[in-house]
Amino acid sequence: MKVLDLQCQSQHLFEGWFGSEDDFQRQLQQGLIECPLCGDKQVHKMLSAPRLNLRAQHAPPSESPRDEPATAAAPEGTSDASALTEVTPLPTPSMQSLQAAWLNMARQVMAQTEDVGDNFATEARRIHQGEAVERGIRGQATAQEAVELMEEGIGVLPLLLPDAVKNTLQ
Ligand SMILES: [Zn+2]
Repeated sequence: MKVLDLQCQSQHLFEGWFGSEDDFQRQLQQGLIECPLCGDKQVHKMLSAPRLNLRAQHAPPSESPRDEPATAAAPEGTSDASALTEVTPLPTPSMQSLQAAWLNMARQVMAQTEDVGDNFATEARRIHQGEAVERGIRGQATAQEAVELMEEGIGVLPLLLPDAVKNTLQ
């Protein structure tokens, strides 16, 4: 088993496990290796890992052991063997941005569904049985009704709509 340090064109670093160097080259040629962060298939092997066999013309591994703090990022278009890129952690989403995303999603549901109010369970069954036009509907149903609908194979999703959304659309 061989662990290789790989890097995509966006300089994301990730590890790949391969049976052998040949195995890696084969998978690379077949486009089977892609960056787990961005899906880029243009990956190349980092030459700085000390456990790799380095060719003489490249920097010796002792110059950049992987445990040391990262140095400056490699310039675009080069494969500088001594450069490491630090992966910047994504910022933690704030409560505000989560709420904004939730409101946005709820608004889309509101815009793309028809409000059938208390008739939800009845209407869902009619659509399911082809008696009514197939469309997205929303409305009120009791927990018992929701369970029954699901047991009948009718897809329903519980959705708590915040008042803010209701106020802007109704
Ligand atoms: Zn990437």
